Amino acid sequence: RAKSAGRKGYRFYDAAMNAEALARMQLRSRLAKALERGELSLRYQPQVNLATGHIEGVEALMRWTSAELGPVSPAQFIPVAEDSGLIVDMGAWALFEACRQASTWIGMGLPPIKMAVNISVLQFRRGHLDEQVNEALALTGLPAQYLELELTESVLMQEQDKVAATLDRLEALGVGLAIDDFGTGYSSLSYLKRLRVDKLKIDQSFVRDATDSAGAAGIVRAVVQMADALGLSTLAEGVETEAQRDLLIGCGCASAQGYLFAKPLSADELTELLRQHPEQPSIF
Ligand code: C2E
Ligand code: MG
Ligand code: MG
Ligand code: MG
Repeated sequence: RAKSAGRKGYRFYDAAMNAEALARMQLRSRLAKALERGELSLRYQPQVNLATGHIEGVEALMRWTSAELGPVSPAQFIPVAEDSGLIVDMGAWALFEACRQASTWIGMGLPPIKMAVNISVLQFRRGHLDEQVNEALALTGLPAQYLELELTESVLMQEQDKVAATLDRLEALGVGLAIDDFGTGYSSLSYLKRLRVDKLKIDQSFVRDATDSAGAAGIVRAVVQMADALGLSTLAEGVETEAQRDLLIGCGCASAQGYLFAKPLSADELTELLRQHPEQPSIF
């Protein structure tokens, strides 16, 4: 009896797995056409200086509205894009489009802000990232100082010599380098003093817990102190409440990003925001 129940259990499990695999395959085949169909777009989330309240930059975040499926969340399509390799072309598109938009804003006479772009580990591993970046800057006319690349710890855990060489070439171009989701990876801290990065983005999981947990607050404080010692800047992700903001200010964190200040906005919405308060905090 137990055996047949077990077998039944397995069969059910298999069916569920197959349904999930099928859904993923369908997502993947639709995602493969998303770029050429013009279904991808970017949103821009302000990054705010905690001392002055000024908008220092924006992070470009990819969005996909499928003709058949409607809007699909990044939590769903980014992993599929990574597993299938589609992220390489999608990421190249995002890099170019973000640079084009940043250059357009500068050309409109709006106050220059940094454009932060997420770079997948695959984009990095395929090589020539520095050439791709150089080309995007040249074609769009965006000065390198206004571009920042967001890399995850998994990027930095690749072959050390290759990583260091690529980061050196990117640094030589004059673009900024930030480590995204800092504290969630498994890499050793030794890379921080060896590799040329400029900024640590403190992962939103620590920010979320910091006001309730002394441990999480301690981690935030320690990361800021370590960054200071290494000459790196800090940005807290996912700031949703004033209590979190105040705690971050108390920790000496330089800047922040999150729904408290602004959600990811369309290019038009951001244009309006920059026009309205070029030097003001973006709380509205
Ligand atoms: P990420 O780079 O860590 O981006 C921050 C995520 O936090 C974004 O999710 C953003 O919308 C969300 N967020 C911002 N403020 C808050 C807040 O106050 N509370 C909460 N709970 N969340 C907040 P999103 O846009 O869904 O993107 C998810 C992830 O997808 C990104 O995480 C990034 O890893 C990846 N991604 C997005 N666009 C790209 C891209 O162009 N290329 C690559 N390679 N990855 C991308
Ligand atoms: Mg990011
Ligand atoms: Mg992040
Ligand atoms: Mg994150």
